[in-house]
Amino acid sequence: MQELQELWQKVLMKMQNLVSAITYDLWISKLEVLELKNGETLLLYAPTASTKTQIMKNNSKQLLECIHDCFGEYVNFELLDKEEKEKYMSEVASDNVVATETNHQDRDQFNEKYTFDNFVVGKSNQFCYAAAHAVAKNPGEKFNPLFIHSGVGLGKTHLMHAIGNYITQYSPHLKVKYVTCEKFVNEYIESLGVKSGKDNVVSEFREKYRNVDVLMIDDIQFIAKKDATIEEFFHTFNDLYQNKKQIIITSDRKPQEIDVEDRLKTRFSCGLIQDMQIPEFETRMAILKKKAQLEKFYLDDDVINFIAEKPFTNIREMEGMLSKVFFFATLMGKKSATMDDAREAFKEDMTQSSEKTTPEHIISTVCSYFGISQMEITGKKKNKEVVEPRMIAIYLIDDTLDIPLVTIGKLFGGRDHTTIMHARDKIGEQIKRDNKMAAMIADLKAKIK
Ligand code: ADP
Ligand code: MG
Repeated sequence: MQELQELWQKVLMKMQNLVSAITYDLWISKLEVLELKNGETLLLYAPTASTKTQIMKNNSKQLLECIHDCFGEYVNFELLDKEEKEKYMSEVASDNVVATETNHQDRDQFNEKYTFDNFVVGKSNQFCYAAAHAVAKNPGEKFNPLFIHSGVGLGKTHLMHAIGNYITQYSPHLKVKYVTCEKFVNEYIESLGVKSGKDNVVSEFREKYRNVDVLMIDDIQFIAKKDATIEEFFHTFNDLYQNKKQIIITSDRKPQEIDVEDRLKTRFSCGLIQDMQIPEFETRMAILKKKAQLEKFYLDDDVINFIAEKPFTNIREMEGMLSKVFFFATLMGKKSATMDDAREAFKEDMTQSSEKTTPEHIISTVCSYFGISQMEITGKKKNKEVVEPRMIAIYLIDDTLDIPLVTIGKLFGGRDHTTIMHARDKIGEQIKRDNKMAAMIADLKAKIK
């Protein structure tokens, strides 16, 4: 609720810059925000009929633009007069009586920070985001089941919680159940193991997972080889599906690659399967900015750049780096960080890795990764098979070790330092644009450690 008021204050501030002082005082400032209905319609109260008419006639376009800026592009608005507001208030009051009891429990399952608003959308995840949003708006109607897969730490759990948070807020009458697959398996096994009143415990388990409107199972790959649970889940799935209840599943791999029987794979695939990739550089920057903003922390752009440039294949690891900066700055009693602070925060990591690693070790790791010889990588040949590994080795040495470009040049057959710089920058750029390169560099870095 507080967030709604804050966003509305931003809209007002923007309007103040767009309209004359008189218009603002007379009409705009009189509006009151009531609710963001279903996440898409901002309900505003216009206390007098003339406020409503004036605004609709003269300022509706500007108002909509400001609302788009602050609440997102898909949000519309509606002006309610006194009578409409009263009707609305009485509807809300009667809804609340039914909703609150069951809803609290449902809502507690979800991390309140994992919302759609806090999820940064880019090329790598836009379709997944859109599908998740559509399912949250109309559960059980469009994409059933929704099957999301991606590598680790790329936002699957975040999106599931976002759906959960959305539904508990905007469709509080629906019963939502989120469970990690691991918990599902353990609970089922436990229910089988309880000796006295065995049937009761199993049926309690069934009741819990079948008597819902939306069931989310996180990391379904964990079910592989647990035959009894697979059987149970198969029936849970069918039961919910037949009753048009929404099922949402995440996994670290495609349905075909999960080690379960074919009939379950077929079930997984009968709705929408959507994958997410590693976010590209700009999205990584935006994610870092968003996380800093959530912590009410200010980061200089070069700090954000510095972190986003690293070839992360996992956003959680990227956040780990960010937390380190937060932690160090907090120790110094600050709520902001410059590049100097960040260097201080990462000092230990940098010296640790450079203590163990030598340029020779990096070169030989890269050579065996690409199946080429040390003579080739440091030599003069210019064919593609050696040029790329050479540039990668240069990049990795520069990135990992604190040695001058001229020295790196010497290691590579006496190459000029500008050649070394060029190679380093070229790979640095590619990491930002090309996920395959980013993944390869991350892989090599892990091997070098
Ligand atoms: P997964 O379930 O795929 O392993 P998570 O959902 O746990 O990944 O995400 C790992 C972390 O990365 C979380 O803190 C999440 O908020 C963050 N994250 C991932 N993608 C995004 C994104 N697009 N926008 C904002 N945060 C993201
Ligand atoms: Mg997860």
